[in-house]
Amino acid sequence: MIEYSTALSSNVRERFFIDGEWVASHSGARHVLVSPATEKPFMSVPLADATDVERAIAAARRAFDSGPWPKMSGAERSVYLQRLTEEIRLRLPLLAQLWTEQVGAPITFANGLLPVGITRFEFFSELAKTYEFEDARPTRRGHARVRREPVGVAALIAPWNATFPIVSQKIAAALAAGCTVVVKSPVESPLDALIIAECAAAASLPPGVLNVITAGRDEGAQLVQSRDVDKISFTGSVATGQWIARAAVDRMARVTLELGGKSAAILLDDVDLSSALAALTPFTMPFSGQICFAQTRILAPRARHDEVVSAYAEIVSKLKVGDPHDADTRIGPLLNAVQRDRVRAYIDRGVKEGARLALGGSGNVGFDKGYFVEPTVFADVAPDMTIAQEEIFGPVVSILPYDNIDDAVRIANDTPYGLSGSVYGRDPEQAYALACRMRAGNIGVNGVELAANVPFGGYKLSGVGREGGREGLEAYLETKAVFMPTAAG
Ligand code: NAD
Repeated sequence: MIEYSTALSSNVRERFFIDGEWVASHSGARHVLVSPATEKPFMSVPLADATDVERAIAAARRAFDSGPWPKMSGAERSVYLQRLTEEIRLRLPLLAQLWTEQVGAPITFANGLLPVGITRFEFFSELAKTYEFEDARPTRRGHARVRREPVGVAALIAPWNATFPIVSQKIAAALAAGCTVVVKSPVESPLDALIIAECAAAASLPPGVLNVITAGRDEGAQLVQSRDVDKISFTGSVATGQWIARAAVDRMARVTLELGGKSAAILLDDVDLSSALAALTPFTMPFSGQICFAQTRILAPRARHDEVVSAYAEIVSKLKVGDPHDADTRIGPLLNAVQRDRVRAYIDRGVKEGARLALGGSGNVGFDKGYFVEPTVFADVAPDMTIAQEEIFGPVVSILPYDNIDDAVRIANDTPYGLSGSVYGRDPEQAYALACRMRAGNIGVNGVELAANVPFGGYKLSGVGREGGREGLEAYLETKAVFMPTAAG
């Protein structure tokens, strides 16, 4: 366990970061953090109210309208971003521990995925140096200078499940583009972005460029509705994303939405099962299934369905369930009792709708504390069952038989989501051909990957826009054409 009074500065524990200063919350309200593993409160943090939100927006607005940041060259911003990256790198072990303590991510998983956040900062600080923010194109009268300018003040709203990697992606891209930002941390994992703020202070970012508050839904809504906010980048549930899209359209605020998923992993009939499952299994219920791109539907050729079920259930049955601080633990608790009960209700629904339980399902993992759900595998799942359609966000995987390739594509695409997917077989090009037919934003062949230089995002209900890669930078840029009466020099 972390000793909070010494591991975290009093700024991170007690204040928000607004306009380059550490400030106390206006109302004095606090939120108590409860350990998902022990159900015990372990610390409390200040909560922002409407006044704090206004202060943060005003600081970002001033920094954008009259500060140096948007006017700097990409190379100048890159220098700050590199310093920021190095400060964050020093704090990675702490950030991993915080992921475990705040929301129950198994420490080995947290240590494995956390460096993704750093690679995102590295990527965008490099891209800021090399990206062509302006080019010239010949016109009838002379030439046009096509400029890509920062969109303005960006509101960055993150969910609780993977706060550090998600806010890293948003902050790094927005700052590289020249935007100023207000980060609204989720109340369940408020510390990650405040630590980034501490790094920003150490890296001497100009005041108001990065502002961080912790707040709930109402203040999130206030941020989204503010006329001083030009861009909203949101990661979270579909319902909130839809609300945000509606609120943004009134003033045509720019929006990027990263929402839920129900991703399909297709096993081709020539698949080598042991290598395919070795690559796939860690992504089927990572962080107890509380990861948006979890491959929660495994599609198996009908003739090999039972073989897949027993091989996969065997592997999952050996995953250690327990204390997320233990390096051997692969499945920890869910966030809270609401999430646990929701997931258990899905399991009951799967049984009622006629899916066959191949593993788990009882809900009993033998601990009297902690929001645990037993890892559960359903076999013979039909594509229209609730457990095959809806995002469960728990350690529950469905195995669905398919008859031929067309059937596999139809089933894979037959949900309202389109975030991720994967295909496993002996011939990567055959798998690629199938990937091209899947309506999802990110598809892995014989594995699942995240890469900072590659865009990430969803089709259909899984979202709008892309984060990561050049596309992720462009999500924070507006294009302007200036027509000049002379030829380009
Ligand atoms: P959520 O939508 O409840 O909350 C997400 C964030 O939005 C929180 O910070 C919350 O305080 C804030 N919020 C809530 N209502 C708001 C409003 N009206 N206006 C502005 N902000 C508001 O989602 P959650 O339960 O925290 O996260 C889980 C969901 O996130 C899952 O559906 C998961 O798939 C999705 N997710 C998606 C990705 C992705 O990259 N596509 C990554 C991680 C999680």
